[in-house]
Amino acid sequence: MSLPTPRESDRPVVLRDLSAVDTLVPPFSALAVEALRSQVHGPVYAAGDDGMAAEVATWNVAVQHTPAIAVGATCAADVAAAVSWAVAHGLGVAVQATGHGPVRNADGAMMITTRRMQGVSIDPERRVARVQAGVKWQRVMDAAAEFGLAGLCGSSSDVGVVGYTLGGGLGSLGRHYGFAADHVRSIELVTADGRQRTLSADSEPELFWAVRGGEGNFGVVTAIEIELVPVGGLYAGGIFFAGEDMAAVLHAFRRWAPTLPEEVGTSVAVLRMPDEEFVPPPLRGQTAVHLRYSYSGTYVSEGERLLAPMRDAGRVLLGFVGPIRSDETDSIHMDPVDPLPAYEKGQLLTDLTEEGVDALLAAVGPEQDIPLMMVEIRLLGGALGRPAKVPNAVPGRSARYAVNAIAPGVPELAHVVPVVVRGVLGTLAPWRSPETLINFLGDVSGPDEVAAAYPPGVFERLAEVKAAVDPRRVFSFGHAF
Ligand SMILES: Cc1cc2nc3c(=O)[nH]c(=O)nc-3n(C[C@H](O)[C@H](O)[C@H](O)COP(=O)(O)OP(=O)(O)OC[C@H]3O[C@@H](n4cnc5c(N)ncnc54)[C@H](O)[C@@H]3O)c2cc1C
Repeated sequence: MSLPTPRESDRPVVLRDLSAVDTLVPPFSALAVEALRSQVHGPVYAAGDDGMAAEVATWNVAVQHTPAIAVGATCAADVAAAVSWAVAHGLGVAVQATGHGPVRNADGAMMITTRRMQGVSIDPERRVARVQAGVKWQRVMDAAAEFGLAGLCGSSSDVGVVGYTLGGGLGSLGRHYGFAADHVRSIELVTADGRQRTLSADSEPELFWAVRGGEGNFGVVTAIEIELVPVGGLYAGGIFFAGEDMAAVLHAFRRWAPTLPEEVGTSVAVLRMPDEEFVPPPLRGQTAVHLRYSYSGTYVSEGERLLAPMRDAGRVLLGFVGPIRSDETDSIHMDPVDPLPAYEKGQLLTDLTEEGVDALLAAVGPEQDIPLMMVEIRLLGGALGRPAKVPNAVPGRSARYAVNAIAPGVPELAHVVPVVVRGVLGTLAPWRSPETLINFLGDVSGPDEVAAAYPPGVFERLAEVKAAVDPRRVFSFGHAF
């Protein structure tokens, strides 16, 4: 087979202002793609290739990526080669592990997928796990549970460890131990110059501060070392209450939640359950209120006692709260596992008042016919309100509650859903904290909305680090600023 003749476009080009460009005509030739293939161990797909769509498929199918080129990275060297190649050809770089948190289509960019990078090793003595970029939480939780340890996983263990942790990482153990980002020992990162750096409190501390909370704005993380906590089991689960008792349950939650110790993580969610076979009959097609509860203290009896005031807050449709292993925490939230189209938006609250609950009830009560899948209110505070041992850029420490609204992200409702979701959150505006958790930021109108999620001074500091390590904004596809 003869190779194509080199063309003008094989030469390195100057990176354009990628933040302003959504669709780029691929500035590279087939020869350049072959050169990239020879530099990496994983597969390389150019736009139009068979296999491209599967390689870049998202879990949240509301966003579908159409990159100019994709590399299925198998190791840090693959990532470094892919980043260098992209920069040399004037492309921005997007990264995806699971596709649980796509923000916008990486159209015309280089997409690096990390799901082949599956290494997990546990050091039980140091209570530390080293986790490669493509690993989902379940693998870490399973491996850690063998030693009576747990990671600070969120509501779904199907989510990627790296993406979740860089965006803060709020899980059921958060009030007890803090954000996942507060428990990172070191980060291996490839920056726009193609360098593989190791960040820690002692090595490149400013970049280490920024990446923990600044998400994917600084480069591609290839591995992360995280601390594990000594939690082998929990008293935990969830109770589904009937929608007609929504007011009683939400007001009971409002009174009860602030009385809880830090060992309890809890949230309450208004759910509109689909009329589908996979939904258990008592919930099928129903509006329900789901109380999520997790007690990580020593005695089961104490976990039971603390939950007791909520058990009869309304008519129970279904539920289980009891002793579980630390690798069974998906049973608390019962998040969907199969891919779905979702439109998401979150905000933080300084308080959950009687008026606030009434305002929310008026917006999302069972009598409202609106396209909303879920509104969840999570209790914050405890260790989530304290600075990390090694400070980081995670916002939201002074807030008391996180609210997250999710609606169907389907084209037919594309004009309605953002208005509904933002409208529902708007009913809580009087109690809104100015900051937002990056993992719950969801849809954003642009970089200014991302910048506003951080406390005063933090965004300016992040922007300085960004200007130093990514002055040409190569990494601008996640929650980019
Ligand atoms: C069902 C569900 C449940 C969730 N529950 C929680 C929860 O309880 N608590 C919570 O805090 N969040 C939660 N989230 C939000 C989730 O943590 C974020 O969406 C997170 O970004 C997902 O990471 P991912 O790698 O799985 O997704 P991806 O879509 O693959 O990645 C999302 C973003 O993470 C960044 N990223 C991923 N990998 C890398 C890398 N190697 N280097 C640099 N940047 C990278 C990029 O910016 C990327 O755009 C949930 C999301 C879903 C869909």
